[in-house]
Amino acid sequence: MAFQPHSVINIPDEERFTALVRKVFSSGRLTNNGAAVRELESRLAEYLRVDYLLLTSSGTLALQIAYRALELTGEIITTPFSWVTTVSSLRWVGLQARFVDIEPRSYNIDPTRIAAAVTPSSSAILAVHTFGNPADVDAIEAVARQHQLRTIYDAAHAFGTTYQDRSVLSYGDASVLSLHATKLFHTIEGGAVILKERDAYERAKCAINNGLGSNGEVQALGINGRLSELHAAMGLALLDDIDGVLRSRRQSAEYLRSFLRAHSSAQLQQLNPSGETNHGYLPVVFPDGQIRDRAISALTRAGFVPRTYFDAPLNRLPFIAAGAPMPITESLTERILCLPLRIGISIAELDVMGKIIGTLCPVMSPLIRTYGA
Ligand SMILES: *Cc1c(COP(=O)(O)O)cnc(C)c1O
Repeated sequence: MAFQPHSVINIPDEERFTALVRKVFSSGRLTNNGAAVRELESRLAEYLRVDYLLLTSSGTLALQIAYRALELTGEIITTPFSWVTTVSSLRWVGLQARFVDIEPRSYNIDPTRIAAAVTPSSSAILAVHTFGNPADVDAIEAVARQHQLRTIYDAAHAFGTTYQDRSVLSYGDASVLSLHATKLFHTIEGGAVILKERDAYERAKCAINNGLGSNGEVQALGINGRLSELHAAMGLALLDDIDGVLRSRRQSAEYLRSFLRAHSSAQLQQLNPSGETNHGYLPVVFPDGQIRDRAISALTRAGFVPRTYFDAPLNRLPFIAAGAPMPITESLTERILCLPLRIGISIAELDVMGKIIGTLCPVMSPLIRTYGA
């Protein structure tokens, strides 16, 4: 799959970034938990109002650090509708994925199907806040308590998302952010793990640093998961403006969503009323794959770069053993398109996109098919 800046390109003020880079150089320290990493960790913990946050070299690694810090074993119940990392990160550390299909409109894991997927070897639920829309956290936590499972949220899309007036990252035993360059807030490459318990945090902190304890001796099995000072400088340079980025993203997304509601029958993501999405992505779902393909051609001709995201159900990946079909996800991946809402997009561009979708998918279309609704 070709890399394309389909969603966000958040570039910091150059002067500010350069000043931070100079500061790193003059500190004489480029990595190993330096001042920039420590400052970014404490500013993020404060901004997100969480206690235990650690930066890592990627979101993928942050997931794996979470699995190990929580000492997960056996099977992990997760969603088939996500980026490949959600499940490849499990398999890479020898954990098994057991899939539970999504809700047809929120695109998040369906909590009512989780209990049926629990087996004696289940140890956790790994849910995703898909496209920044908070999962049904209350229901997921309830079923986890009932079956004594841990909860991990892949919150790669959910920087700035809230749930019941708190950062969505403060829920569960662990939440994980990706700070990859395509995300709303990023460090070019990077990630963060947020842990609820102090013990798990201490284990994670040690694990990220090759298992070294505070005395510099190896205490446990670890890996090099450190973020560098220059990557942290990128985060610091972007953090000052993040509220403005989130605000303008909300305005663009709300504008286009209401345009589409009025002028098209394309399905929009149903947003969780208990929280607020960061509108990190704007997915639209077409009645069928052919109409989606026509939308891709029309948008591309008009100069946009839309992306079929996510385009592969995770239960069909080559390294996953065949299991039960996931019909809601499988249908969705054929019909979904994430509209390219770059930062600073104009109303005129949003209108062009909205009209293209409205023409292909008019309000009274006889082709409307709502899956499972
Ligand atoms: C981006 C992403 C990740 C992985 O993050 P990296 O920082 O690229 O390793 C994990 N899960 C989801 C849903 C993502 O979109």
